[in-house]
Amino acid sequence: MSLSAIETRGVDGMIDYACPKCGHDRFQVTAHVAQDWLVGANGEFLETMEECSQVVHWPDDDDVWVCARCGHGNAGKAFKEETNG
Ligand SMILES: [Zn+2]
Repeated sequence: MSLSAIETRGVDGMIDYACPKCGHDRFQVTAHVAQDWLVGANGEFLETMEECSQVVHWPDDDDVWVCARCGHGNAGKAFKEETNG
């Protein structure tokens, strides 16, 4: 895996997300990433050149976030912790 570069671009210290049901702070989200392929003369896939070369779309408040503990799923904004109290 070569995802360490991605993991360092987390949202820690910017926005706190937490499951509104159980309070867990790990979620399953879908990131859109670019991947470099080796292709043949007809453009057919042969093999991956790199696990992930670029993040096209980082999971945000409009994506579906699913709690990794209890499975509760909702838009990311529903997982934002209230910080105005
Ligand atoms: Zn949960």
